Amino acid sequence: MKITNIETFIVDAGWRPWTFVKVETDEGITGWGECSDGRAPHGVVGTIADLQSTLIGQDPRAFEARFWDMWRALRQSPGGIAAKAMAGVECALVDIKAKALGISVAELFGGPTRNKIRLYWSHCGSSRVRHHELLGTPPIETWADITALGKEVVGRGFTALKTNVVMPGKAATWYSGFDRLMGANDEYIPNWLLGHLETLIGTFRDAVGPEFDINLDLNFHFKPEACMRIAQVLEPFNMHWLEIDRYDPDALLQIKQSTTTKICTGENLYYMHDYIPYFERHAADIFMIDVPWNGFSQSKKIGDLADVYQLNVAPHNYYSHLASCTSAALCAVLSNVRIMEIDIDDVPWKDELTTAVPEIKDGYMTIPAGPGWGADINEEVARAHPWNAATVGYSKSTPPPRSF
Ligand SMILES: [Mg+2]
Repeated sequence: MKITNIETFIVDAGWRPWTFVKVETDEGITGWGECSDGRAPHGVVGTIADLQSTLIGQDPRAFEARFWDMWRALRQSPGGIAAKAMAGVECALVDIKAKALGISVAELFGGPTRNKIRLYWSHCGSSRVRHHELLGTPPIETWADITALGKEVVGRGFTALKTNVVMPGKAATWYSGFDRLMGANDEYIPNWLLGHLETLIGTFRDAVGPEFDINLDLNFHFKPEACMRIAQVLEPFNMHWLEIDRYDPDALLQIKQSTTTKICTGENLYYMHDYIPYFERHAADIFMIDVPWNGFSQSKKIGDLADVYQLNVAPHNYYSHLASCTSAALCAVLSNVRIMEIDIDDVPWKDELTTAVPEIKDGYMTIPAGPGWGADINEEVARAHPWNAATVGYSKSTPPPRSF
């Protein structure tokens, strides 16, 4: 079997792009991979175009060999956009291999280790506060709206959620770690925002009850000193995790050791070598792995390595249904999984974009049966929703209502 063609699609997903890779073969089997990057999709698809000469004419079934071919081709630009490009291609190759054998990816990698995976409703309130009209959901204007949302999540069968630094009524979330703001890199927390977070998590806790799992994602928005203050203030709420992205494992360890609040990290790390310094220090309690950014085989290796350090992992998955299928497949080939992320509030064309949608019941997703990922991209829908970075995107988010 030979790779004959590689095509990419950047699809409008409302406020962010979804990026897909289609790999065709001379035997009529087509593979799909997702490698969505919120802010640099053109860099990712440009890199995939540059990989064509490395891949065309090669056997897609030897996906491990093809990964290292791509690695050597791009080794002078490790991680980041190059890794995402490689991951999208590798996921498509894994899909082809499983389809050629007539089995699911979970089966290809020795699974399933489970038939379903518990989900948490991600960007809970964060998507509605900024995009409720596009989503067709109630707005988030008051704390009572947060209470209603928490009760809705419970009513729809979920047992866990993740929110961000949501500001009801202001159409704003705190994205200082990504946005273009004066002084944003200071990354400290003013007292008013500390009190705001206490109210936000306290309101969710009152709405969902004591047994429900609540996560809060701080992303890159705060330096360790601010993270320690936040973790301490939130201790009474018995959170499932506080999520923090920092590229210094010692800083993470300092935060973890300062609080009883459990710490999750890892979504921006690549391959085992990035994780090892964090694993060796036990710098966090739970580690996220992003399949669309690492590829499937590398994600499996990271997950297995985490188990050596007695750590649980959780897929980082804020994408289309295709990525939910690849993330669920990862859960089904690992023995040490805590829970899986999924976006429930999303653009109206999300379900049409894939040939199958995740089966979700009582807050669990059924592991897709395959073949391959169990879902392909509907090309017509992808072409009908082209991404336009000039008119939409994270840069259009509303800045916080108060300066810092
Ligand atoms: Mg995160």
